[in-house]
Amino acid sequence: AHFSEFLLPDALLRGLASEGYETPTPVQSQVIPLAMDGADLLVSAATGSGKTAAFLLPIMQRFLAVPAHAGGTRALILLPTRELARQIYIHFMRLGSFTRLTAGVITGGESKAHQIATLRKNPEILVATPGRMLELLQSGQADLRDLEILVLDEADRMLDMGFADDVLAILGHCRPNRQSLLFSATLHHRGLKDITDRLLRDPQVLAI
Ligand code: AMP
Repeated sequence: AHFSEFLLPDALLRGLASEGYETPTPVQSQVIPLAMDGADLLVSAATGSGKTAAFLLPIMQRFLAVPAHAGGTRALILLPTRELARQIYIHFMRLGSFTRLTAGVITGGESKAHQIATLRKNPEILVATPGRMLELLQSGQADLRDLEILVLDEADRMLDMGFADDVLAILGHCRPNRQSLLFSATLHHRGLKDITDRLLRDPQVLAI
């Protein structure tokens, strides 16, 4: 298998080549075509499986193919820690280095003023931890009314860290008509069902 099978735009194939990615990992082979099709997905995949590119590539493909209607946030990636948010942002910058797509990072423990300035630039993609994201939604600084894709990454860890209520509150701010992707190391986690019931519509379940 090769990434060219997914009919990704040239700019993304160049990004993949410059990262030295040649063959998709198993999670990428399974997730990318379904996500590009618009399906909601419930995926069990470990860190190190290549799941980051599995959700970033379909998001970037869509946004390159379909221009924004409004100027707002088009994709939100929620994850449990600041460190993970940074890693995903760096991954995005590398894969997207031949595109003009933009992303912002919204996490606790960092300057709120700086994040508000980031939001004013209207990046297409936000990478965020739940607590600070909810705060900025409640204060009206962030707006997810035009959200097209929501990703929950490391959902089991987010639950372990007590973020369930924040995640559910964030869902209430998102446009109902959206695609949702949930990634978790395990699908047998207490509390996951409540989130998946509210987040996902008729999801495809992938245990990789
Ligand atoms: P992740 O599970 O998304 O954190 O990715 C784990 C590591 O695998 C990261 O260092 C990625 O840069 C790398 N990686 C992801 N996909 C591929 C691929 N298709 N080929 C080679 N390396 C990859």
